Amino acid sequence: MAAEIRGRLKIQVSSFRERHGFPPTLAVVLIGADAPSAVYLNQIVRSCRSTGVSGQVIEIGPRVTTALIQRRIEELNMDPMVSGIIVQMPLPSRIPLRAVIEAIDPGKDVDGLHPANAGLLTLGYEGFLPATAHATVEILKRSGYALEGLDAVVIGRSNVVGRPASLLLQREHCTVTMCHRRTRDLPGHVRRADLVVVAAGAPGLVTGAMLRPGALVVDVGINVVDGRIVGDVDFESARLVAAAITPVPGGVGPLTNAILLEHLLAAARAQHEDAGQGAHAPGTGRPRARATSAA
Ligand code: ADP
Repeated sequence: MAAEIRGRLKIQVSSFRERHGFPPTLAVVLIGADAPSAVYLNQIVRSCRSTGVSGQVIEIGPRVTTALIQRRIEELNMDPMVSGIIVQMPLPSRIPLRAVIEAIDPGKDVDGLHPANAGLLTLGYEGFLPATAHATVEILKRSGYALEGLDAVVIGRSNVVGRPASLLLQREHCTVTMCHRRTRDLPGHVRRADLVVVAAGAPGLVTGAMLRPGALVVDVGINVVDGRIVGDVDFESARLVAAAITPVPGGVGPLTNAILLEHLLAAARAQHEDAGQGAHAPGTGRPRARATSAA
């Protein structure tokens, strides 16, 4: 699926480049390098390269102030060559996430984390969607599963994955139950679910024994255990019970990267072509208006 999206993007990116003389550009803001985000970063840069998108990494040292980070993001907002901005997470603990995210122009917020985009999603309007949550639902739709009416359980209520995924599944007419760390009977909820989306950051949280036979399982967890990357689901036991399950690595992750670049192209088009004119792929988030720099 990721390869298919990237193949189409490559053509669209090259025609954007022909029309405008520059490629859509993704600015990745990296504040105080740490290992997991560096892995993710390499994947994004590779994925940019394979589609002809320009990727620009802005490294900001670990000792910098919040005000300086905001100023740096403001410069990116104003830069007409920069179509989209993402900030690598996690941030160093002393930097308030909200202050950083709110500095991003909502029209360049291609990972849908700005409150304006989160609000649009909540209200059911078009905006940029968080790429991981978007990929979670796309992987199901592109596999041809009918989601309408399914009992879905989403484990994890983060703003990046769990919460937006639950809203998107509601949009697909699922009946969604949100589970989290304080949920009293997680196995009980999982057992009743037709669809289980796991984004908790807890390896082995869901096992085959907990699943209802024939359930669909989307594993969004990325954990490093004994130097190996594993998801939140015990794949070996779950695959025997589930009708379908996404592996980690190689499941939602690669699709997320491709979808992020799709959002980037949509942003570039909205900024440089008349809003609404671009033919976006179905389900692709679109900025609510022409992106203007918040000058
Ligand atoms: P991510 O960015 O992957 O979504 P976060 O760390 O932001 O991860 O959020 C983790 C979410 O997973 C939280 O909402 C938390 O309540 C949930 N969670 C973590 N561990 C468990 C667990 N053992 N059981 C149920 N939910 C959990």
